[in-house]
Amino acid sequence: MNSLRTQVLVVGAGPSGGDLARQLAAAGVGVLLVDQLADLGQAAFSSAAMPLDVLERYGLPAEVVASRWRGWQLLGPGQERRTWRAETPLGVVLDFGALRHWLADQCRRFGGSLQLGWRAFDCQPMGTGLRTLLRDRQGGVQEVISDWVVDASGQGRALIGPITAMASESDRDLVRGVGVEWLLQVAPDCWQRWSYQLSFALGSDWVSQGYGWVFPMAPGQLKVGVCRLRPDRHLPPLGQVLESMLSRLFSPAERQASTVLDRHGGLIVSSIRRRDCHGQGRLLAIGDAVSTANLLGGEGIRHALSSSRVLGPLLVAAIQRGAPLDLQRYERQLRRRLGWRWSLSGRLARRTWLGLDGPQADRRLSSLLTGLEPRRAEDLAALLFEYRFERYGLRSLPYLLGVR
Ligand SMILES: Cc1cc2nc3c(=O)[nH]c(=O)nc-3n(C[C@H](O)[C@H](O)[C@H](O)COP(=O)(O)OP(=O)(O)OC[C@H]3O[C@@H](n4cnc5c(N)ncnc54)[C@H](O)[C@@H]3O)c2cc1C
Repeated sequence: MNSLRTQVLVVGAGPSGGDLARQLAAAGVGVLLVDQLADLGQAAFSSAAMPLDVLERYGLPAEVVASRWRGWQLLGPGQERRTWRAETPLGVVLDFGALRHWLADQCRRFGGSLQLGWRAFDCQPMGTGLRTLLRDRQGGVQEVISDWVVDASGQGRALIGPITAMASESDRDLVRGVGVEWLLQVAPDCWQRWSYQLSFALGSDWVSQGYGWVFPMAPGQLKVGVCRLRPDRHLPPLGQVLESMLSRLFSPAERQASTVLDRHGGLIVSSIRRRDCHGQGRLLAIGDAVSTANLLGGEGIRHALSSSRVLGPLLVAAIQRGAPLDLQRYERQLRRRLGWRWSLSGRLARRTWLGLDGPQADRRLSSLLTGLEPRRAEDLAALLFEYRFERYGLRSLPYLLGVR
């Protein structure tokens, strides 16, 4: 069996793992970043819409940006349609594959190593460090001996373990979302119709217990997807829901002229109160593996990056001092960074999406959206990306807390 030695092994080259690996490499720490994907451009499941300030805050270059948006279009419930538009761009849609490539390249440029096509399946203490086993597609096994291991494997929590085994909370605290998305090549005039805005399809006749979206990517390309908070009862398969949404949003001629470039999907599994295990000794976890995905807008990239920005300096300091890492401090700092509105937004997600299952819920949603009509596009961005619910007054609180 091949054996490798490194200071830190980072498992998962998504936004959290890639960003942590580049920080560690830039600080002169020996880092090996591994991912089960053979190509980081594959399975670009994330739609990656976010506010503009993320680029500056995380130092992301133009090459990872697929498009910019400055407005919102909310379709539904039923035939309702509302639009908001700002004068200047409010956000970007990232090319998720390009983001992963860029972060991994940065790690290598700073002296870190990258190994693709290897899946980590076991991690055990060995001496003062850890021994992790990786397997490739041909069944070859390799061991990595390291001082630290970071589980950045996303909602699958490959090494830190399943959330249910960790969280002492009831199952109500766990929210599971499943999404299916297509990357479409469309005619220029069709792309134009969806460009510069984020479009969402809302209401139970569009997607029961979830929502749909159309995001502009590079000119001529759109990402169209549906997601649903996984319910207990039987509902039509998401692929079918996506097909029916496409037939409502695009004319037969537009569909005829379009090509599906890629089909992908994924899961989000998050604990609203974030009681996840953040580490055990020298095995640490970041990103979706510690429930940084927010189910309100199905958004996790920014928060995954936040977790790597909190853990990075703490880990570098622990390595430099040869001291243990204060896990409680990591957890506390991350909680503070995500902010006090976090669990409120999770409750709102559960309340809004899980409850969206019929005409009564559609009416409630419709009146909520009508209340948003006088607001500016910027206000909607603050609501959805900063969770600034208090701007909508105390009257919205019972709704948020689920008592109305
Ligand atoms: C359909 C869908 C749409 C989304 N849309 C948005 C959006 O518009 N905006 C947004 O901000 N967020 C969105 N998200 C959420 C966002 O993608 C995640 O929250 C974010 O990617 C989490 O980053 P991460 O680094 O923690 O994990 P991930 O991005 O999941 O990365 C984990 C990596 O680990 C690798 N891996 C897993 N197990 C192993 C293993 N055992 N060994 C080696 N490698 C392993 C995986 O291949 C993957 O590359 C969406 C998610 C889904 C499913």
